[in-house]
Amino acid sequence: MDPKKPSYVVRPPTAVLTRGFDPSLSVGSARPAVFRSSTYVFQTPEAAEHAFECALGRAHPAEGQRPDLIYARLSHPNAEIVEDQIVPLEPGAKAAAVFNSGMAAISTFFLASCPPGSTFVYTTPLYGGTHHLIHQFLAPLGVRGIPVRAGDTAALVAAIGAAERLRAVFLESPANPTLVMSDIAAAVKAARAREEPVLVAVDNTLLGPAFQHPLTLGADLVVYSATKYLGGFSDMLAGVVLGSSEEQIAELRGLRGILGNILQPDECWMLDGRLPTVHLRMNRQSKNAQRIVEALEGHPKIERIHYPMLFDDPEQVRIRDAQCDFPGALFSLVLRGGKAAAFDLLRNLHIAKNAVSLGGVESLACHPATTTHSEMSAEDLAASGVVDGLVRFSVGIEDYRDVLREIRAALDLC
Ligand SMILES: *Cc1c(COP(=O)(O)O)cnc(C)c1O
Repeated sequence: MDPKKPSYVVRPPTAVLTRGFDPSLSVGSARPAVFRSSTYVFQTPEAAEHAFECALGRAHPAEGQRPDLIYARLSHPNAEIVEDQIVPLEPGAKAAAVFNSGMAAISTFFLASCPPGSTFVYTTPLYGGTHHLIHQFLAPLGVRGIPVRAGDTAALVAAIGAAERLRAVFLESPANPTLVMSDIAAAVKAARAREEPVLVAVDNTLLGPAFQHPLTLGADLVVYSATKYLGGFSDMLAGVVLGSSEEQIAELRGLRGILGNILQPDECWMLDGRLPTVHLRMNRQSKNAQRIVEALEGHPKIERIHYPMLFDDPEQVRIRDAQCDFPGALFSLVLRGGKAAAFDLLRNLHIAKNAVSLGGVESLACHPATTTHSEMSAEDLAASGVVDGLVRFSVGIEDYRDVLREIRAALDLC
């Protein structure tokens, strides 16, 4: 510990600007520099030997010391800086590991925690890439996923209790694009009731880190596509896993070193610069979405709006109130006119661009049934509420009145 530094604990918005970066290691620069080097020079051959012993787990660095850097696929200064700075943003987190996409983070989590012959329980629907990973890659490897409909707490608890050789529970809450929520605390309780250790991981991309805190509800790991709100500008790909224990994260970093999917220095540096504003952006985006939804409620062309503020199912209201601080910036409109109306709406939007992805400062809209969710069977689409008339919006930081006006004008043409 640096004796000049205050010993009190600062709050997250302060910590994200002050932790993990020592200007004296970057010729005094006030913000982190980029270290693009692929390899690192050792002071002595003995230091090289010790660094490898640490990397292979045969030795540990002295108390308060970091192991020497070796090679950038294992770790590099910008990864260490962004990993340190993101930890205070996630309540309950002790450590983080960065990956070169959200899918890299999710794939590494499954490969690390579910050996062939094991099972995991997961909620449906979930992100299309994760769905593909589970069915096309993990299943042929002999890792069996047991699906549970999002929001069905009794089925979730029963599946976790009954699964054989269970190693993990993977929740995506709220579910995309209908925003149905799954009870994180109930999943944790069911996992802890098992004899063998079962990791509970939550894909927190849609509401975290600002509005939902799975680690405080007992989850072991939180997974992000940092391409979305953390990155915030739709101009980079990144993934992060944060954990309530150092050991879980160390294991993921070890596998990351072999798979070679660490986030590269330039992207780490970009992500690092986006972290201090993630709460500001998400709050503004959520408020904008809330105002747009309020204004569109009851519109004659709209059959239903999916948005946490408008939940009417008492179980969904209970979960929302227990685990979310704000409704977030994603909503879906179900149009009475089906697919034709949905396409007409998309065709007539100009501020909100027709693109997949979400979480950027610009508004986006898409038609999940024919794009992001098109790998799901017709039966699963219907059961998950991903109907032909559904258009998903990710609201940005524009003046909401402009986005609202153009949605209203486009609805007139549907
Ligand atoms: C986008 C997304 C992912 C995948 O992240 P990439 O960065 O695109 O690899 C995973 N989960 C959710 C919920 C997402 O929205």
